[in-house]
Amino acid sequence: MSAEAKAKYRGKVLQVAVPSPLRRVFDYLPLPKQQALSKPRVGVRVKVSFGRQQLIGIVVAVTDSSTLEKKKLKPILACLDSEPLLSDAVFKILLWASNYYQHPIGEVFAAALPAKLRNGIPLRENSKFWTAGKPSAEEADLLGRAAKQKDLLSFIRTEGETSESQMREAGFSKQLLSQLLQKQLIQEHSRTDAPAACFEPLEPAENFDIELNQEQLVAVTAVSKTLDEYRCFLLDGITGSGKTEVYMRIMQEQLSKGLQCLILVPEIGLTPQTITRFKQRFNCPVVSLHSGLNETERMTAWSQARDGSAGIVIGTRSAIFTPLAKPGLIVIDEEHDSSFKQQDGFRYSARDLAVSRARQENICVVLGSGTPSLESLHNARSNKFTHLHLTQRTGIDQSSSMEVIDVSNEAMIEGFSEQLLYRIRKHIQQRNQVLVFINRRGFAPILNCQSCGWICECENCIAQFTVHANPPSIRCHHCGAAARLPRSCPNCKSKDLNTMGIGTQRIESFLKNQFPDTPVIRIDRDSTRRKHSLERMLEEINKGDPCILLGTQMLAKGHHFPNITLVAILDADSGLFSADFRGQEHMGQTIVQVAGRAGRADRPGEVLIQSRHASHETLQSLANKTYAEFSDTQLEERMTAQLPPFSHLCLLRAEANEMQPALQFLDGIAQFCQRFCEHNSLPIEQLGPLPAPMEKRAGKYRVQLLLKTDKRSKLQALLSALCAELEGMKLPRSVRFSIDVDPQDLV
Ligand code: ADP
Ligand code: ZN
Ligand code: ZN
Repeated sequence: MSAEAKAKYRGKVLQVAVPSPLRRVFDYLPLPKQQALSKPRVGVRVKVSFGRQQLIGIVVAVTDSSTLEKKKLKPILACLDSEPLLSDAVFKILLWASNYYQHPIGEVFAAALPAKLRNGIPLRENSKFWTAGKPSAEEADLLGRAAKQKDLLSFIRTEGETSESQMREAGFSKQLLSQLLQKQLIQEHSRTDAPAACFEPLEPAENFDIELNQEQLVAVTAVSKTLDEYRCFLLDGITGSGKTEVYMRIMQEQLSKGLQCLILVPEIGLTPQTITRFKQRFNCPVVSLHSGLNETERMTAWSQARDGSAGIVIGTRSAIFTPLAKPGLIVIDEEHDSSFKQQDGFRYSARDLAVSRARQENICVVLGSGTPSLESLHNARSNKFTHLHLTQRTGIDQSSSMEVIDVSNEAMIEGFSEQLLYRIRKHIQQRNQVLVFINRRGFAPILNCQSCGWICECENCIAQFTVHANPPSIRCHHCGAAARLPRSCPNCKSKDLNTMGIGTQRIESFLKNQFPDTPVIRIDRDSTRRKHSLERMLEEINKGDPCILLGTQMLAKGHHFPNITLVAILDADSGLFSADFRGQEHMGQTIVQVAGRAGRADRPGEVLIQSRHASHETLQSLANKTYAEFSDTQLEERMTAQLPPFSHLCLLRAEANEMQPALQFLDGIAQFCQRFCEHNSLPIEQLGPLPAPMEKRAGKYRVQLLLKTDKRSKLQALLSALCAELEGMKLPRSVRFSIDVDPQDLV
C-alpha cells in the first residue's frame, strides 16, 4: 500500500482484502469493460483468483497504479455488488481495528459479515415478475379453448407487473404460467428487490407508567443534552437500579427522530425477556443478532439493520459490526462482562470498538454496569467518559448486607461450614429461597489414587480432568476431551480412587440429601444445554416456593430472583490468589453481581461469603464497603504495579506440538523487539518468553511474551514493525503465532 514504492503499472487498480492470514491487501485489475467506469467501488465484494483458489474479497481502495508489473496483475473474476456492503463508519472501524489489533484485514472483514455474504450470495434477492403485451391477432388461436389460460392472461393484463405470489393468491397454478410463457403470450422479467423502507419514527412519548427518580432524571438529561454528537457515558448502577429504564428513555428520544439504536448485551444476557421488554415498550421493529440464529435469520436481521427498517438492533459481541442506515445510539449493557472480548482469531473488544464506532458515527454511547471494569472507571476519572451514578435500587432502601464467614479452622462438610448450613436451613424454614454460588461445574475437579498419589490428567492439556456424575465420566474443561470414569489407577492398579474438591453436581446431591423436602435447582452449562431448559427452571423459581438455587456464574448475569433472601458464596479464595492480575477484580464483580440478583423491598437479601482468608483486605473491602470503594482500592494497586489501565499490554503467543520450537520462535521475536525498541528508544518492557501458566492446552504447548508500555502508540509502532518483519519471513510451519492486544486472558 505504500505510496512511495515505485509504480510499475499505471492504470486503474483495485486493492482487495481477501480472507487469508496475510496482513496485507492484493492488487487486481478491474474487468476490461470496467476500466473506464467508476465501478467497482470501494466496499464492494469481488471474486478473485488467489493462488489456485477463487476467493471473495472486499475492495479496500481504488488506486491508479501498482508496484507490480502489468503481467503480474490479474483481473478480478467478477464484481458482486453495485453498492458497498458496509456503512462508511463500519468500514472505517474495521480498517482501524485490523491495524490496532494487528489482524489480517481480509479476516477482519470476514468476521464482520454474515456467512451468506462471505460466501458470495447477493445482498438482495432477485424477484421475478411477468407482464403481458396488448392483445394480438394470433392470441385466440394460441389459447384455443384453454379457459384457465385465458383467465390468467387477462389477470396479468389487469394487474400489470405480476408476481408469482399474486398469481398464487388468485388461484392460478405454476403450470398455467409456464403454458402462457411457452406460447410467448407473456414475458418474464426480474429485478433486484429494493431496500426495505426505514422504520416509521415513533410518536414522541407523553406519559410513562414509571416516574424517574432523581438520579435517573439526571442521567437521562445529561445524555439527552448531547445526543447529536459523540460522547461516552458510564452508567454506573447495580442491578435493579433502573439502568434499562434510562436506556429506554434515551432510545425513545432517538427512535422518535427515526434514528436506530444498537444494544449490545453479554452472551448470556440476551434472553427472550430482554427482547420482549423492548418490544413491549416500543412500537417499532426489533431484531436480534446472536449465536442461536441460522444463517438465513442472521442475514435477514443484518439486512434490516443495514436498510434502516429495524429500529432496535440487539445482539452479542459481533453485532458491533452491524451497519446501521440511521445510527442514533449505542448501548453496552454490563460493559465489564468478559464475553465482549473475542478470545481467539480476530481478538477484539466489542466494548472498546463501540466507543471508537460511536466517535466515528458522531453519536452517543452508554456503557452500563453495576460493577464497571477498572478500565472504564479509569476513563471516567480521566474525563474521557462522563460518569453517571444510580445508587438506589428501585424499591429497596439498602443493598443487601454482606458477611464473610471465616472457615479456616472449620471442619467443612462437602464445602459447607456448619454455620452456613444452619443459616440456609433457617431461610428455608421461613419459606424463602436460597442461592448457592460456586464457580465450578461438574462433580469434582480432581480424581486421584489413594495408594500412589496418581492424579487423573488430560493428555492434551496440563490440567486435571473434572469428574462428572451424569453419566459417570471424566471431562477436560479446557479442550473438551471426555472419557469413561476409570475404575482403577492406571499406575498401580489400585481400586482406591478418590475425588477431591467440589463442583455443582456434587453440591446438588449433597443439598438434596440435607434438604430432602426442598427442591434443589442446579443452573450451569451442563444443566441448561437443552433448549428451553433454563427458561423452565427460571419459571419454577419465579413461582416463589421455597427452593435452593445452585449454580455457576450463569447466575451472575441477566436474571433477577426477587424471592431469594440468602446468597451463599461457597468459595471466594480462588479469586483472591489467581494467576491472573484481573482475578480479584473479576471475583469482586461476580460476588457483587450474584448478590445483586437477590432480594426485594420487603425481603432484603443476606449475603454470606465463605473464606479461609476472611481477614484478607480485598474480601473485607468487598464485604464492608461499596463496589466503588472496592474498585478504588483495586485501581490503586494497579497503579502501584503499573498494570492496566495504567499501562497497556500485548500478549504474543506461540503454540506448537512441542515446547522447544515455540520457545525458540518467540525468542527470535523477543530479540527483534529488543533491537527495535533500542534502535527507536521505545520504552517497552518485555516479560518472557515463558511457558504460559497453562503450559499445554488442546495438545499444544504454549509460550508467551508479554509487552508492556505506558503509551499505546509506542506499542503500535513496535507491533507494526514486527508484523512487517514476519510477513517477509518464512514462518516455521509447526508454530502457530498470535497477537493479543489488550489481552484479557493471560493464562
Ligand atoms: P437495571 O437495568 O438497572 O437492572 P431496570 O431498569 O430493569 O434496572 O429496573 C428494575 C425494575 O425497576 C424494573 O421492573 C423497572 O420497571 C423498575 N423501575 C425502574 N425505574 C423505576 C422508577 N423510577 N420507579 C419505579 N420503578 C422503576
Ligand atoms: Zn495408584
Ligand atoms: Zn484437555
